[in-house]
Amino acid sequence: MTNKVLFLPGDGIGPDIIAQTERVLRRADESFSLGLEFDEAKVGGAAIDATGVPLPDDTMAKAREADGILLGAVGGPKWDALDMAVRPEKGLLGLRSGLGLFGNLRPAFLYPQLAEASSLKPEVVSGLDILIVRELTGGIYFGEPRGIQTREDGEREGFNTYRYSESEIRRIGRVAFESARQRNKKVCSIDKANVLEVTVLWREVMEELAKDYPDVELSHMYVDNAAMQLVRAPKQFDVIVTGNMFGDILSDEAAMLTGSIGMLPSAALNESKQGMYEPCHGSAPDIAGQDLANPLATILSGAMMLRYSLGYEQAADAIEKAVSDVLDQGLRTPDIHFEGTRKVGTNEMGEAVLAAL
Ligand code: ATP
Ligand code: MG
Repeated sequence: MTNKVLFLPGDGIGPDIIAQTERVLRRADESFSLGLEFDEAKVGGAAIDATGVPLPDDTMAKAREADGILLGAVGGPKWDALDMAVRPEKGLLGLRSGLGLFGNLRPAFLYPQLAEASSLKPEVVSGLDILIVRELTGGIYFGEPRGIQTREDGEREGFNTYRYSESEIRRIGRVAFESARQRNKKVCSIDKANVLEVTVLWREVMEELAKDYPDVELSHMYVDNAAMQLVRAPKQFDVIVTGNMFGDILSDEAAMLTGSIGMLPSAALNESKQGMYEPCHGSAPDIAGQDLANPLATILSGAMMLRYSLGYEQAADAIEKAVSDVLDQGLRTPDIHFEGTRKVGTNEMGEAVLAAL
């Protein structure tokens, strides 16, 4: 075991939140004698500014070597005018596809201390604990052909291709069923099988797979209904499995049920459990560099990395406990602040997690 950890701070609040996470991981490394080796590289807009491309070869090489990658966020208005092929987001997509990170785990967990920050009534969300398993390297985000073209009649049209192969569906399905076994043994597969053929196949393959997991209950739901059910009665869900685009949208929706997108970690894993870990939120350029960002989603992503890719359950538990402790102390960044709690900045929040650890 080499234990190589690569930090990719990226853009916007990325460097702010990675700095706090790095402190926490270095402390965990010392306290638990993990023997981690840390390195850092550029991705996204920061890489474009330095090298002209969003995913330099040097970054990709370091990423391949790493056991766990911790990413901040990429993108921002500074690079929005660039051609789609060289945008910061391409760096992220390149890492995901280059490393084969097909399995995106996005927990939506409500900390009891934050129930008041949720936009839903306490009885609807208290005890909420959903795991969204999103396919990350296929579907309409990657399908070819794609583009914008001018037709013979002079009209411009844009087009993308929504495609999934049987094996792509099966491997993400397995991640969902295996995860459900560790949880409440329920998988809800989300599709649009009344309209889209690709998701008719999706539903069929999930049914076939379910035969290997007789202890797990499989149900299906159309994505429009799922979007509604998530705000109506979210606790009906345990594990949700879905494709790339539906998963993108539903996981942001589920995130908001928990009060703040600033609290939620995520993992993207490949077949050998190598993983890239990042907060669910984006680069939040509106608050970058102002000591306003909530670093907890990224710190919790670091804990997930220790657990899933490096196998340090105890250290991961300790970090999660430290986060819960600072919430108990009433410390809140502005995104999760409400009356009766104490507003702190990014740095002070990181400091408090260190102290609790
Ligand atoms: P992306 O396309 O990269 O997902 P986005 O457009 O969805 O980005 P975010 O960058 O996630 O948007 O930001 C959405 C809003 O949430 C912004 O107002 C931002 O300030 C806020 N936000 C996001 N992350 C955090 C955080 N860690 N702490 C506090 N506020 C945050
Ligand atoms: Mg987003």
